[in-house]
Amino acid sequence: MSDVTLRDVRKSFGAVEVIKGVDLDIKSGEFVVFVGPSGCGKSTLLRMIAGLETITSGDLAIGGDRMNEVDPSQRGIAMVFQSYALYPHMTVRENMGFALRFAGMPKEEIRKQVDEAARILELEPLMDRKPKALSGGQRQRVAIGRAIVRHPKVFLFDEPLSNLDAELRVHMRIEIAKLHRDLGATIVYVTHDQVEAMTLADKIVVLRSGIVEQVGAPLELYDNPANLFVAGFIGSPK
Ligand code: ADP
Ligand code: MG
Repeated sequence: MSDVTLRDVRKSFGAVEVIKGVDLDIKSGEFVVFVGPSGCGKSTLLRMIAGLETITSGDLAIGGDRMNEVDPSQRGIAMVFQSYALYPHMTVRENMGFALRFAGMPKEEIRKQVDEAARILELEPLMDRKPKALSGGQRQRVAIGRAIVRHPKVFLFDEPLSNLDAELRVHMRIEIAKLHRDLGATIVYVTHDQVEAMTLADKIVVLRSGIVEQVGAPLELYDNPANLFVAGFIGSPK
């Protein structure tokens, strides 16, 4: 079970409250997308689920277990960032296996996991290359591969495609949708791209200034926006 639940979750930086009481139910296997303008708290919320930010108040549970004080490495999650920060001196294979090696997994087992991820992401011909010999899209696939090998219950993506050009973004969007289908994993995905949100999401969460404005399936939000803000954000592609 890999449900993620948030109950009245809040976050303050100093005196400034940036997440103002978020309630959310993310079901196991669901693809949930956070959208909202820059600075509304999307990354902060994701980082709190990951354990990279503390929760000021409220409750976070993953798979029914309270996670507020649990170390990021013990949460069963893997996060993929916008800047994928591969290790430049390591090959693709070494990059993908690094976290497993660090965790003390036996060599043979690491090889198996990495080969499996390489197959899913069609990275097999590139396994001996260094990151500088890869295209942007290939690097991003390696970054996703590093997450897959850990068999997380929940994948967290923070604007993973925003550094890619438009054509590659469309291609990677299809790859990520396929990944979700194939792995059946729970995915929480941040983007400020409405089209990305509409095409990928089972459920969209619209955030504004640290508050959830509306939650619903893409067409629900499109057909029945709760207010003008949601309508403007979802309904009028630029
Ligand atoms: P988004 O990802 O939606 O663009 P963020 O979650 O990055 O927004 O930021 C939400 C708000 O919290 C912003 O006003 C930002 O300036 C503030 N913030 C984020 N991280 C910190 C931090 N470490 N210290 C102080 N303020 C922060
Ligand atoms: Mg952000």
